[in-house]
Amino acid sequence: MSALPVYLDYNSTAPVDERVLDAMLPFFRKQFGNAASRTHAYGWAAAKAVDIARAQVAHLLGAEENEIIFTSGSTEAINLAIKGACAAYATKGKHILVSATEHKAVLDTCSFLERAGAEITRIPVDREGIIDLDFLKKNIRRDTILVCVMTANNETGTIQPVDEIAAIVHEAGSVFFSDTTQALGKMNVHVNEAGIDLCCISAHKICGPKGAGALFVRRKDPRVSLVAQMHGGGHERGLRSGTLNVPGIVGLGKAAEIAAAEGWDDAQRLSVLRTELEQKIISCGTVFVNGSVKDRLPNTTNLRITGVKAAELIAKLPLLAFSAGSACTSAIPEPSHVLKAMGLSGEESHASIRLSIGKFTTDEEIAKAGELLCNQINALRYS
Ligand code: PLP
Repeated sequence: MSALPVYLDYNSTAPVDERVLDAMLPFFRKQFGNAASRTHAYGWAAAKAVDIARAQVAHLLGAEENEIIFTSGSTEAINLAIKGACAAYATKGKHILVSATEHKAVLDTCSFLERAGAEITRIPVDREGIIDLDFLKKNIRRDTILVCVMTANNETGTIQPVDEIAAIVHEAGSVFFSDTTQALGKMNVHVNEAGIDLCCISAHKICGPKGAGALFVRRKDPRVSLVAQMHGGGHERGLRSGTLNVPGIVGLGKAAEIAAAEGWDDAQRLSVLRTELEQKIISCGTVFVNGSVKDRLPNTTNLRITGVKAAELIAKLPLLAFSAGSACTSAIPEPSHVLKAMGLSGEESHASIRLSIGKFTTDEEIAKAGELLCNQINALRYS
């Protein structure tokens, strides 16, 4: 069998940790019960496993167990947070502030609500991808029901000043939703310290299974109200009906537990490896980092390689798995909306690649990737 490509696309998805898989397997076989079945041992075992997972996720976020609503992932959690808040606070107003570099799950949900009559104001970012706090202060209003600013960006890794944003939002009496999908497991996220009222987690970004996630909904100071977007059996305190994905939830819980215990060590190691890879590519000359170098996730680098088209580089390097911008939008041959919002031209955007590493990335893989990338960049430039 030919060698598998070196995986440098952890921000798109991550391999499942063996310990996560081991925790999940019994819930496909002997313990296959429905967590909502109250009349027998199969149901009780499933419900107990879900309770444990809820505690594990709450612990990772610094939240209470009754503040966690299980979903199919971050996209669903984001839809519930934004559409649910819009419906719940309809009498207060219909104005939402959203940062220009959010994931499409956030931006497209806001655009959908805009077509339905909501007023959406997009917050600009600077060249490093950090939001304009003055703009936020000037544009937040009494009828602003929600402010959406992600903790860390999936394309560049840029980290927002979340606690400063939370202070402005709360001063104005509004609710703060932060997409924490990429931040979790890579940096410390504590909802109370940060002042986050709503945030989301996706298992497959932290070495858990695809199709499992959760929404954190603050219960006090302030108590956040949401209107359910999925109706049925009244699961998850009526906020998300549908039979719980018990194996997925168990996997999410285990992945959250591991992230809480090992995230810091991983972050230190990843930062060293990321910098080594980045420096190697920068040594090719006229290569620049997109986004903040100072406030950045430890595993991510987004590089602009002057004179090279990212699509060509990717096509020439089948032994490396990486992306040209966000995986979710890379099927669309348009410049990244994130890089565009940061002021990059279409040409600069098309010359940019995203490398994101993770838990199972080795020193050898980093050395090999750096070598292959440099050789190919030089070949494309000087051929
Ligand atoms: N938010 C961010 C920042 C992401 O990076 C992603 C996935 O790429 C999502 C949301 C969507 O997550 P999910 O795949 O769980 O729907």
